[in-house]
Amino acid sequence: MTTPEILQANERYAANFDKPDFSHFKNVIILACIEPRIDPYTQLGLKVGDAIIIRNAGGVAEDAIRSIVVAQHFVGVRREIMLFRHTDCGLSRVTTEGVRDLVKKENPGRDDVAKIVDAMDFHHIIDPVESVKQDVKILSENPLVIKGTKISGWLYDVDTGKISQILQAIA
Ligand SMILES: [Zn+2]
Repeated sequence: MTTPEILQANERYAANFDKPDFSHFKNVIILACIEPRIDPYTQLGLKVGDAIIIRNAGGVAEDAIRSIVVAQHFVGVRREIMLFRHTDCGLSRVTTEGVRDLVKKENPGRDDVAKIVDAMDFHHIIDPVESVKQDVKILSENPLVIKGTKISGWLYDVDTGKISQILQAIA
């Protein structure tokens, strides 16, 4: 999709704009990968206004903490955090070292870039199930997550469109 197409699509959307209704808000935070095959709204039967959706590469908890704190303490989402991994994630095909090399290759001779990227962990996912278990543990033990929040870990299968629950914990 090119920019003019996006503009036209938005014009059509705005022409029939219906303000999102928050009365169906499910009090849930969904953390998912940026992968284009993932669409939490469609795949989980959500409408705009139903949930807080946080996305980053891999759906990694560490990157999402800032948004989770705002969603819990400011918006008041205290019931559940659903943490997703998916099969065939790009982060299973590239290591942290691999991403660093790509960035450095793009910026030859830039020591400032190398220094920044060498300090970053890109969270290579070896096994999505183990990875989701680890992140549920990290979130449930994070003192910034409100005590009593349910934290569930899920796997989305990009070949079948099905989700399955891996585990659940309480913060
Ligand atoms: Zn992914």
